[in-house]
Amino acid sequence: MRYISTRGLAPAQSFLEILLGGLAPDGGLYVPEAYPRFGADELVTMRGMDYRQLAYAVLSRLIDDIPVGELKALIDRTYTAETYSHGRPDSDYSQIAPVRRLEEGLYLLELSNGPTLAFKDMAMQLLGNLFEYALIRAGRDVNILGATSGDTGSAAEYAMRGKRHVRVFMLAPEHGMTRFQQAQMWSLQDANIHNLAIRGVFDDCQDIVKNVSNDLEFKAKYRIGAVNSINWARVAAQVIYYFKAYFAVTASNDEQVSFSVPSGNFGNVCAGHIARMLGLPIRRLIVATNENDVLDEFFRTGVYRPRGAAETLHTSSPSMDISKASNFERFVFDLTGRDAARVRALWSAVDRGQSFDLKPSGLFDRVSEFGFTSGSSNHANRIATIRMVWQRYGTMIDTHTADGLKVGLEHREPGVPLVCLETALPAKFEDAIREALGRAPERPAGMEDLEQRPQRVEVMEADTQAVKDYIARHAED
Ligand SMILES: *Cc1c(COP(=O)(O)O)cnc(C)c1O
Repeated sequence: MRYISTRGLAPAQSFLEILLGGLAPDGGLYVPEAYPRFGADELVTMRGMDYRQLAYAVLSRLIDDIPVGELKALIDRTYTAETYSHGRPDSDYSQIAPVRRLEEGLYLLELSNGPTLAFKDMAMQLLGNLFEYALIRAGRDVNILGATSGDTGSAAEYAMRGKRHVRVFMLAPEHGMTRFQQAQMWSLQDANIHNLAIRGVFDDCQDIVKNVSNDLEFKAKYRIGAVNSINWARVAAQVIYYFKAYFAVTASNDEQVSFSVPSGNFGNVCAGHIARMLGLPIRRLIVATNENDVLDEFFRTGVYRPRGAAETLHTSSPSMDISKASNFERFVFDLTGRDAARVRALWSAVDRGQSFDLKPSGLFDRVSEFGFTSGSSNHANRIATIRMVWQRYGTMIDTHTADGLKVGLEHREPGVPLVCLETALPAKFEDAIREALGRAPERPAGMEDLEQRPQRVEVMEADTQAVKDYIARHAED
């Protein structure tokens, strides 16, 4: 399997060649040269598979430069019941990504039982093992530099902690994450994990990461890498659980299922799109946004209008507070019939801070052929949804999952099972749960004292040079 850039001006590469990089050299995102397709017979066989077998069935079609035995070993090491059972004592430990039935035809796909209690663990844990494997094979190391407003940073750190040849430098605003999120990262004592608390906001952190990455000499000298949501391996790993959920809620492959996905950077729902392209009978992919409704606006009107960072609202589902959706280009590439010149033209506008409109060309009419639809949610909606789900089903959901459920229910169709993706556990967003339910969410066992643990964090000004100096001092440890 070769990977090509959505902008068509970069050479095709293999999976391992694109694993450690971010954007393609022409500024595009890597996608498979052609989507493999599972035939009817293969889907019948897959129905009987457990999570690891499904992971192998999907990933072995997308990765052909890791020997079979090694890929299997990586998958087996990643997807263990132990790693994915920290979140909830009452979930079914024997299963990875269990599906919880709320009522006939309505399900919650539990993706938040990994080490950091958010769905990002589903892919990031695999990425950690893939990185280590690739770096040993290439005889090199990498210094991962990232900025986080919460979930990404902790998922990356728990995936990379203790890994050989990998160091993580994670920038986060000194104030702004929940106390739980802060403590998750800053209590890590592993020598290869460096937490940098920046005196500023998330956008300052992101600017510093951009500045450092634009210094090509520094980037090369210190072997700077990234694990952000455009990473293809992360998207690929997220495809697996769509298969898992589909088989869990249907009795035969003649049935269709709709998925509702709380969305920010469009990584999670992009994986759903790819699952559909691989032949999974998905009816609708429902994109749920919060008040930052860039994506909902597109799927309603055909206009993609990324906002400036200053326009981004801070909401009670903060992991979806984005101004542009970094994986969206992958979908638009397919929507244009894989017309790279077209994508180049569209994103040259986006990169200049402009918007584009796909209605006049008729391209927008094709969106429904790809199953996409959307909606948005706000603070009052998510509080009401958390309350409704608690009262009606006795299940506590977090604010992001609530956005997904609220929008999903608006698009529910009789006779079509609806699976809502759970993207985090309520324990991470205590204040909102107190507001909705008048009580604190349960903590998973072993996390009761998280905020009391000693923290290991370096506080610094929002200053690129200071961050560079810090990396230079620690890049060879
Ligand atoms: C990252 C995240 C999202 C958004 O996922 P995307 O792949 O960026 O669309 C939604 N909910 C939670 C809890 C997250 O951490």
